[in-house]
Amino acid sequence: MLTSLLECMCCPVCKSDLLLKTFEKTPLGVREGILVCKHCNIVYPISNFIPRMVPTSLYDSVTFCNTHSIKAEALLHNWPDCPQDISSIQSQTQNNFGHEWEHYASLGWTSSTGEDASDLQESMMWFKEKLLLDSSDIAGKLLLDAGCGNGRFSYAAFELGANVVSMDLTRAADVAQNNIFQTKNIPQVVQGDILHLPFKTGVFDIIFTLGVIQHTGKALQAVRTLADALKKEGLLSVRTYRRGNQRLEDNDAAIRAVTTQFSLQELHEFSDLLHGLTRFIMKKGLFGAVARHINIFPKRYDIFDWYAAPVAEKLTYREMRDTFASIGLTTFRDSDDDTTPEDRTFGAISIVGQKTS
Ligand SMILES: [Zn+2]
Repeated sequence: MLTSLLECMCCPVCKSDLLLKTFEKTPLGVREGILVCKHCNIVYPISNFIPRMVPTSLYDSVTFCNTHSIKAEALLHNWPDCPQDISSIQSQTQNNFGHEWEHYASLGWTSSTGEDASDLQESMMWFKEKLLLDSSDIAGKLLLDAGCGNGRFSYAAFELGANVVSMDLTRAADVAQNNIFQTKNIPQVVQGDILHLPFKTGVFDIIFTLGVIQHTGKALQAVRTLADALKKEGLLSVRTYRRGNQRLEDNDAAIRAVTTQFSLQELHEFSDLLHGLTRFIMKKGLFGAVARHINIFPKRYDIFDWYAAPVAEKLTYREMRDTFASIGLTTFRDSDDDTTPEDRTFGAISIVGQKTS
């Protein structure tokens, strides 16, 4: 953690300022230390350069406490305002997506993942296409990648000239940290929750969230929370799932009701089977016809990702625009093609809002 990040951060529980105590510092920042809330006294570990601004179930708090003689009861164990259903979503998200990014640590970084090949060039292309942002928007700006996964889109933002802070709820934060370390860029990775943001109001010029808010269980609240951390005139770019035709949505709900109960091993077996079937369907030229009924994807990675997520909320452009309007964001850019749900297979929303009030 770079010490300069401290002025942007706050306690995710009470939003008060934090005190930094350093145990080990390197030229790349604080490797080990703690952040202590000046108001509620909760202790947040910094390990592997990453501030852990989340409950203890989401990282290895036992090793940290033993190594640094920290009393476990001083740490955050649960979100005080967190209903049971959200907290169980978070632990399942940690389990499945934490695993996913360790399994796919190099996805989008190298092309060495065979059928799932996805290199940095593709990450750069997707960044522009899915987030509707370019270097003219983000160069020289302080940017938050909210839900960074393995860090591939943080890398794209670095390449386009932004000063990037990357955040993930899960142990993917460590995967992103290690991936960004391999590049010439200096990682500033935080393990944090979009719904309990460890950042002060009005600190970021740009915030983007790609393929994340649909898995929080409270997608529109996530948008509101992120907008709070934006400076005036700042841009919030959201890429999330879009509602498809009703038959597709009904079928999808029925299949996911089963797959979200699978073990990780079963999810991998299921992904192998559906990926093989999808390749056959593509060979027969039937991809478009089948994709109107069930969600299939050419890449195995996308199949695993889709059917592993415990929650996958789907929105419309109207819902997103109404939410933007209610929190002082004006639609700056979008990719709305004006189709009705009945016209649509699975799809996504890309929309950028500017904070105007
Ligand atoms: Zn606090």
